[in-house]
Amino acid sequence: MSTKFCELLLKWDQKGNDRPMPWKGEKDPYKIWLSEIILQQTRVEQGWAYYERFVKKYPNIHLLAKAKDQAVFKLWEGLGYYNRCKNLLFTAKQIVTDLNGKFPNTYENLLQLKGVGPYTAAAIASFAYNLPHAVVDGNVFRVFARYYGINLPTDSKEGIDLFNKIAFENLAKNKAGIYNQALMDFGATVCKPATPLCSSCVMNKGCTAFLQNTVGQLPIKLKVIQKKKRCFDYFFFIVGNTFYLQQRQPGDIWAGLYQPYLLEPERLMTSTQKEVSDMLENHLSMDVPILKIELNTQLYQQQLTHQLLTVRFTTIYLQSVPTILSQGKWIKLTQSAKYPFPKTIKDYLEKDASFV
Ligand code: SF4
Repeated sequence: MSTKFCELLLKWDQKGNDRPMPWKGEKDPYKIWLSEIILQQTRVEQGWAYYERFVKKYPNIHLLAKAKDQAVFKLWEGLGYYNRCKNLLFTAKQIVTDLNGKFPNTYENLLQLKGVGPYTAAAIASFAYNLPHAVVDGNVFRVFARYYGINLPTDSKEGIDLFNKIAFENLAKNKAGIYNQALMDFGATVCKPATPLCSSCVMNKGCTAFLQNTVGQLPIKLKVIQKKKRCFDYFFFIVGNTFYLQQRQPGDIWAGLYQPYLLEPERLMTSTQKEVSDMLENHLSMDVPILKIELNTQLYQQQLTHQLLTVRFTTIYLQSVPTILSQGKWIKLTQSAKYPFPKTIKDYLEKDASFV
């Protein structure tokens, strides 16, 4: 028997839900998986174009599994959270090699895939196979916290258990895919984090938070994320028509992506030409003549979930390759577009750099 919430949600979905999305109604588990991985930490508006590009270039899992890592990272460039891209490649290869290209078709087996947690497994299981698994994420916490007036923190064990129980009780078991999609759409377009559309909401007569005037206070969360502040001082070294790049290593943000030479000081201070030459001398034992130093006073900021980055770029023209950088990658300036970069570096190269 369905709950009142479930009935109202499905009715709203039929009559009031006009949220367009390219993967809606999709039954191919590969494409659903692709869209869900893209959407894990990305807004629909941003992920949409990436999804379309991926589906166009890699329309099936075999093509994705065969692709070169660098090409896939390049397509992912700008989306952030690059572990998702690494997992995408790993999982595509694993499914092709170990499962003959066939996507797992149970919740439990989906959960075994790298990068697939309970939410993504429930989404794929319900959208592709209509299996009765309820999606539970921030959207769902918010809608249920308000509708049922739940004061338990969404990041406490009791809270998570309760929200999971409520999510499963409300699920339309024979229409899990449609129900889950409707719930996500409802959370994104009606019961929004700020300024929810309560006065026209189909749930308002039974919504506890609306009736008790506590909408703005729910949901409750215990932990407030403290962002770590980091300063990235980047140096583009240019010799003739080539520049120096290094690949970021595992164990930190942006693993696998490319960057110019990096120093990470406590603070970014204004530098003069002299300070930069001293730094090159002391830090890098530069053993070739410096032709020109281009200072850039502009600071760039990038917000990540747990970090706030302040970034600066300096360009240094050298007569030849210094010994200390001789083992690195020197690539032609005209080839820079082939390499995947973190968003701030990509933006800088496209908009502000004077040398590409
Ligand atoms: S009435 Fe407001 S708070 Fe309640 S479900 Fe609707 S939009 Fe959300």
